[in-house]
Amino acid sequence: LGGGGCGYGAVFRTAGRIWFIDIVPATGTGRVRVCVSQGRVGCGYKKTRTITDPLPSLIADIQDEKGEKLAASIGPGLCKYVRCDVSKEDQIKALVLATIQLYGQLDIMFCNAGIINKSEQKILDLDLDLYDQLFAINVRGMAACVKHAARAMVEGKVKGSIICTASAAASIGTEAYTDYTMSKHAVVGLVRCASRQLGKHGVRVNCVSPGSVGTPMVLDLFGIGIDELERLFERNLSLGGMLKVNHVVDAVVFLASEESEFITGHNLAVDGGYKD
Ligand code: NAD
Repeated sequence: LGGGGCGYGAVFRTAGRIWFIDIVPATGTGRVRVCVSQGRVGCGYKKTRTITDPLPSLIADIQDEKGEKLAASIGPGLCKYVRCDVSKEDQIKALVLATIQLYGQLDIMFCNAGIINKSEQKILDLDLDLYDQLFAINVRGMAACVKHAARAMVEGKVKGSIICTASAAASIGTEAYTDYTMSKHAVVGLVRCASRQLGKHGVRVNCVSPGSVGTPMVLDLFGIGIDELERLFERNLSLGGMLKVNHVVDAVVFLASEESEFITGHNLAVDGGYKD
C-alpha cells in the first residue's frame, strides 16, 4: 500500500514465495526495481533479480497513473494495481477481498502509505484540520489496513506477516512536525498491540523506522534535490552517506520473510545509525 506511486512499495504473495516491488525514487525515470525470491527470502535474496517465475501480486495507491504503469511494467497478469485510499475503510476491505479473490489468500501486507504536512506543525500553531487529515491516513488508515489484513489471515489460518512503515520520528521529538511525529509513535503502538493479540494465530506484525530517504515526500518537503539532501544528512548518520530506498526494502523483505519467523512486535530502525 502506498508504494505504487513512488517511494518504496508493494506486496505480493503466494505459496511461500515473495516478491517485492519498488520504484527507485528521485531518478525521475520511474525505473522499477523488482526483487523476486522463490522459496526463502533472506540469505538467498539478492539486490536485484530477474523474474523467472513471477507470482501475481497486488499493489495499491491513490496515484492511479503511476500505479497502473508500475503494474503494467511488471507484466500483464502478474501484477494488478487497485486504487485504495487508506483513509476509507471500505476501500481497504475491498482491497483485501480482491487479493483473496485473485490469489486465494493474503500472506504479506506491507502498509506503507503515509503523508507529512508541508507546513510546519509546531504545537503553538498546530493546525488541527491538517492534523486530522494526516491522522486519517497515517494512523486510522494504518490501523484499518492492519485490521483487515489480520482478519483475512486469521480467518484463512494463514501465518502471515504484516509490516508497517513508522519512522525515525517514532522514537524522537521533532522541531516542526508534531502531528507527523505523533502519528509515527502511534504506528509503533499499533504494531506492539497487534503483535501481542495476533501472535496466537501465528500472525506477525512489525514495523520499519527509516531515517530520511530521498523520496518525493522528503524532496518536496525540503524543496531540495537529492544531492543537497545527501549533504544535509550525511553528518547525522553514524555510517555516513545517505539512506537509500533499497536499505528500507531489504529490511521490509527480511520482516516479510521466513528469516524473521520468530520476530514480532519489533520496530526495526533503518537509519544508518541516526544521531539525534
Ligand atoms: P511518498 O510520498 O513518496 O510515498 C507515499 C505513498 O503513499 C505515495 O505513493 C502516495 O500516493 C501514497 N498515499 C498517500 N496518501 C494515501 C492514501 N490516502 N491512500 C493510499 N496511498 C496513499 O513518500 P515515502 O517517503 O515513500 O513514504 C512512504 C512511507 O515512509 C510513509 O509512511 C512515510 O511516512 C514513511 N517514511 C518516509 C521517510 C522518508 O524519509 N522518505 C522516512 C521515514 C518514514
